[in-house]
Amino acid sequence: MPNITIYCFRNDLRLLDNPAFLKASTDSDILLPIFCHPNNDLIYRGIRRIGIHRQAFLRQALNQLKINLKALNSDLIEVQGNIDNQIKKIADTIGATKIFFEKIIAPEELEQEKLIRDLGIPVETFWQSSMIDPLELPFEPHDMPDIFTEFRRQIESKKIQVKPPSLPPSKLPPLPSKKFESAYNVEYVEGIKNEKSSFPYLENQFLGGEKTALAHFENYLLKKLPHSYKKTRNQLFGIDFSTKFSPWLSIGCISAKHIAFKLKEFEDQFGANESSYWIWFELLWRDYFRFLHFKYGKNLYIKNGLNKNPIHINHNENKFEAWINGNTGNQLIDAGMRELFFTGYLSNRMRQIVTSYLIYDLDCDWRKGAQWFESQLIDFDVYSNQGNWLYIAGNGTDPRGGRRFNTTKQNLEHDPSDIYKNFWKKRSINIPEI
Ligand code: FAD
Repeated sequence: MPNITIYCFRNDLRLLDNPAFLKASTDSDILLPIFCHPNNDLIYRGIRRIGIHRQAFLRQALNQLKINLKALNSDLIEVQGNIDNQIKKIADTIGATKIFFEKIIAPEELEQEKLIRDLGIPVETFWQSSMIDPLELPFEPHDMPDIFTEFRRQIESKKIQVKPPSLPPSKLPPLPSKKFESAYNVEYVEGIKNEKSSFPYLENQFLGGEKTALAHFENYLLKKLPHSYKKTRNQLFGIDFSTKFSPWLSIGCISAKHIAFKLKEFEDQFGANESSYWIWFELLWRDYFRFLHFKYGKNLYIKNGLNKNPIHINHNENKFEAWINGNTGNQLIDAGMRELFFTGYLSNRMRQIVTSYLIYDLDCDWRKGAQWFESQLIDFDVYSNQGNWLYIAGNGTDPRGGRRFNTTKQNLEHDPSDIYKNFWKKRSINIPEI
């Protein structure tokens, strides 16, 4: 009996260093690559759970993936709806014998995996989104140290070498004889062109997709930017102050392993310094928030998070609305919220400042803030977003019990001439009434 398989792309929209897809391609006689768009629910007036920036970037990435698959005589079929229903329909039509996909251990994605497994067709999943393979950790992931510094120390003392990225498939099995047409109804807005965007995804060099991600990464190394990263990483806007890898990483146009491996080659050739190390250090934070999910799972999503003490939140919807609309009256916060709304990107420093403000100055529910970020951020990543919100709220693993940022001090330190604040003052958000 032939092996007729479905490969369901998730946050791994690439061919290079995609062991799951490589395995599907070698194990199948017939292979149908698919992508399932979720139903994109409204979360607030006219705002959807996947906001316009992320939707546009995803569209670009799917276009590039489709081109790459077609170059190997295959294709990408896009569908929409509940992933298990969609897979069932396709599996029944082609008589699928196996389903492959990347493993994602956030609660909703695990629920999807369960529903797919319940279809009764064999399923093979692969964990492939971290820089370090969980099997190489010096501890079991569910037993990892809670404190990041200890987590890092143990990893560094093991001197783990990141393995070379796996090759892309050189050829792909044929598609099923039954022809499938993509069928989805995704509202797609071109995005808003903004000359001050720190991640101008409408420009050719910042489009979503594997080809652009690899070119950006290569260019970043060519410009030798790893050597100055640590000095510039806390700036508020511009292109080169930070790596800008996150949007591509979030939907897997490039793998963290690939970045870490090539970064090491760069250091071997051009020298390592504190800055080049710091990129690895930040990628380790990304891994840390992933591995925390192995240990704490759904507990990371409840109001208290990991906090054992009862927490009281006087959430006020008016204050929350003022925050998302960039109308709090605090000019630095309002600038940040406007930048987020208009560009889909916010520097790490501004993310920390606006997050702290919502939690500590406005006393609002941190989970609502995390939800707003999910909708707006072009680089939304479930593990990093949840982990960082919890950390700042003091409901995660921060040994200091949370981070409160003083906006006056931050303004003086990071925007002393008010250039950032004054630029965003001129734009005001107008969310439609529904
Ligand atoms: P760089 O400074 O160049 O860092 C290099 C890479 O390291 C990043 O691409 C990212 O993969 C990783 N990284 C850096 N800082 C962190 C961090 N604090 N936590 C986890 N990984 C990190 N990042 C996301 O990718 N998706 C999110 O949804 C997200 N939500 C966040 C929410 C809050 C409240 C905060 C404070 C931070 C959040 N971050 C998130 C982390 C960080 O702000 C972004 O990764 C970073 O700003 C992206 O820009 P960059 O690629 O230029 O980062």
